[in-house]
Amino acid sequence: MISRDSTTVSPWQLKDIQEKKINSANHEKHQLFDVIIIGGGITGLTTGLLLQQQGKKCLIIERGNIGFGTTGGTSAHLNTFFDATYPEIESDFGKENSKLVAKAGKEAFSLIKKLTKDLNIGCDLEEKNAYLFAQDEKQSEELKEILDASKRAGVEVEQTDKINLPIPFQSAILFKQQGQFHPIKYIQKLAEAFEENGGVIVEHTFVNEVENKGGFVYAVSNHQIFKALHLVYATHAVPGVNSFSFKCAPYRSYVIGVTLNDEKYPKELVYDMMEPYHYFRTHVIEGQKYLLVGGEDHKTGQGDAENAFNTLESYVKQYFDVKDVAFRWSSQYYVPADGLPYIGQMPGEENIYVATGFNGNGMIFGTLSAIMISDEVLGKKNEFKDIFSASRIKPIAGFTELVQENANVAWHFIADRFNTEAISTLTEMESETGTVADYNGEKLALYKHKNGKVTILNPVCTHAGCIVNFNSVEKSWDCPCHGGRFDLEGNVLCGPPRKNLERKK
Ligand SMILES: Cc1cc2nc3c(=O)[nH]c(=O)nc-3n(C[C@H](O)[C@H](O)[C@H](O)COP(=O)(O)OP(=O)(O)OC[C@H]3O[C@@H](n4cnc5c(N)ncnc54)[C@H](O)[C@@H]3O)c2cc1C
Repeated sequence: MISRDSTTVSPWQLKDIQEKKINSANHEKHQLFDVIIIGGGITGLTTGLLLQQQGKKCLIIERGNIGFGTTGGTSAHLNTFFDATYPEIESDFGKENSKLVAKAGKEAFSLIKKLTKDLNIGCDLEEKNAYLFAQDEKQSEELKEILDASKRAGVEVEQTDKINLPIPFQSAILFKQQGQFHPIKYIQKLAEAFEENGGVIVEHTFVNEVENKGGFVYAVSNHQIFKALHLVYATHAVPGVNSFSFKCAPYRSYVIGVTLNDEKYPKELVYDMMEPYHYFRTHVIEGQKYLLVGGEDHKTGQGDAENAFNTLESYVKQYFDVKDVAFRWSSQYYVPADGLPYIGQMPGEENIYVATGFNGNGMIFGTLSAIMISDEVLGKKNEFKDIFSASRIKPIAGFTELVQENANVAWHFIADRFNTEAISTLTEMESETGTVADYNGEKLALYKHKNGKVTILNPVCTHAGCIVNFNSVEKSWDCPCHGGRFDLEGNVLCGPPRKNLERKK
């Protein structure tokens, strides 16, 4: 089974899918690469492959294994409509830009189809219809606006009177030519093709510093320094304290995979309009059909994971005759301040590129990033450069969200320092639980293992100094401010921190 940055297991990690054996780690020491790509998810692998195919010598460095990040915990829909709806994009960026976003989505989806065909990837890729349904007056009005603006943007969509799901609804629309696939089977083949084209992959290596000097970019890990002309942060969250820490808000999202007592598995993709929304799709994995249902998202470090899974399960059981809950997994995504991802040159850093803020649409936006960044590295023009620019300043679009997210961050910074429960003795803690406590006057993150051993960490997040919270389901320490997550030993799992939590004992 491949590992992920979370303890829960997604179906994509299943053990009979062979862990990719990376052969290329023994590259020539002190070699100069054209491009270093940090991150072995869909964004990093697609970017690496496109550049390598076009003659650039590339190195991909990954903290865990290929698929360790959100690509291993996604639900893998392929959509040309997004979490930022077309009416929102039109009103914040204008009608012409809305058309460009739709075109960008189609191009990215086409590339996924092309690579799947060219590389003969058995990744269960299927094109499907997708239904979006409204359940009250307000949602119906919004849905009508989505229908009209999506059509104006050039997306194939129409009104429909069915959703092929046993859930009551008032109105619905149907997006054509959407899709789904198996994300790990897909990226493992990209990795193979990347290596066959001469690319180098180094796994289990955490880049904790990047230096940009004298025309070269250096990626520094504990054991090695790698050198290149260009560097791409395909890390989902951009490491360190930078503008993206404030422009992208981290969320946890939950998915369950259930088997049914009857054959009422939806054949198509279906989404409701609740806040946060639910989605439904079916995938056959190792010969077994599963209904995958997702939702119950909340800001990282600010919700109860167990509760989210239970609510999701009860919701599904209202409408489906569930036989067994086979999978429960969660993963992390980043909501951009103005609705669209940030792709391209990192502000103020020549030869360094970022791809972040994908919301729940990173299969498409990660692929789009690969197209855009490889064009930029190769000096080719790309018509989507301005709309997704990582340096864009949109004072109107996203202003409210940005203020709200940062108010929330500031609130945590203050409140968490004064709100923790004081416990005077470790014996009060149950085993396999964690808590942040004032212990003999010092704030500590305590985890009691099954055997009674206690791991003690400094709960101050190494990214921007907020206090981490314990995630009882993923057994991780999650930061409520910018989404940094750490394992029980304090090692960085995901998000923008560059350093582990300080170990006290
Ligand atoms: C539950 C859930 C469901 C989703 N469903 C969908 C969907 O249906 N359709 C869709 O389009 N999108 C979906 N998304 C979003 C999508 O999965 C992500 O946007 C996408 O996987 C991001 O890919 P990535 O390659 O950019 O990042 P990741 O897959 O997170 O990869 C980044 C990699 O970088 C590595 N890394 C980070 N920092 C360092 C470092 N310093 N050194 C070395 N390595 C590092 C990480 O270990 C990680 O493997 C979903 C997200 C969630 C959470």
